[in-house]
Amino acid sequence: MSDKTYAKPIPSPSPETRFFWEKAHAHELWLPYCRPCARSYWYPRDFCPRCGSRDVESRRSTGRGRVYTFAIHHRAFHPGWADEVPYITALVELEEGVRIFSNLIGIDPDPAKVKCDMPVEAVFEDISDEITLIKFRPTA
Ligand SMILES: [Zn+2]
Repeated sequence: MSDKTYAKPIPSPSPETRFFWEKAHAHELWLPYCRPCARSYWYPRDFCPRCGSRDVESRRSTGRGRVYTFAIHHRAFHPGWADEVPYITALVELEEGVRIFSNLIGIDPDPAKVKCDMPVEAVFEDISDEITLIKFRPTA
């Protein structure tokens, strides 16, 4: 899909997030990791939000996690989503312990079906020649 036909806002990588977006485009999810804290954090930046250390690196995530919480949207807040309502946004807690905000796909946007704590995995949606979005779907 080219940028011209994609009607939603497209993320623009910054110096701090470029690595994340490049890995997403390779269909991999990488998280920033603080060596002193021995923990991952979110979102990408070149210092640890917990301790302030710049002794950080990136580590590949398993892409697996659980739905921490979710919302089912019945109104589009932007014309780009007009054809997709209802859809689900979810806060996913990854196995690495960080919570990442995304869309939950591959399941009916029905509160009787979507459950907190349900296991999910990352999926990758190429939306342009440079940008790939990371979404989540229930694991089988
Ligand atoms: Zn730290």
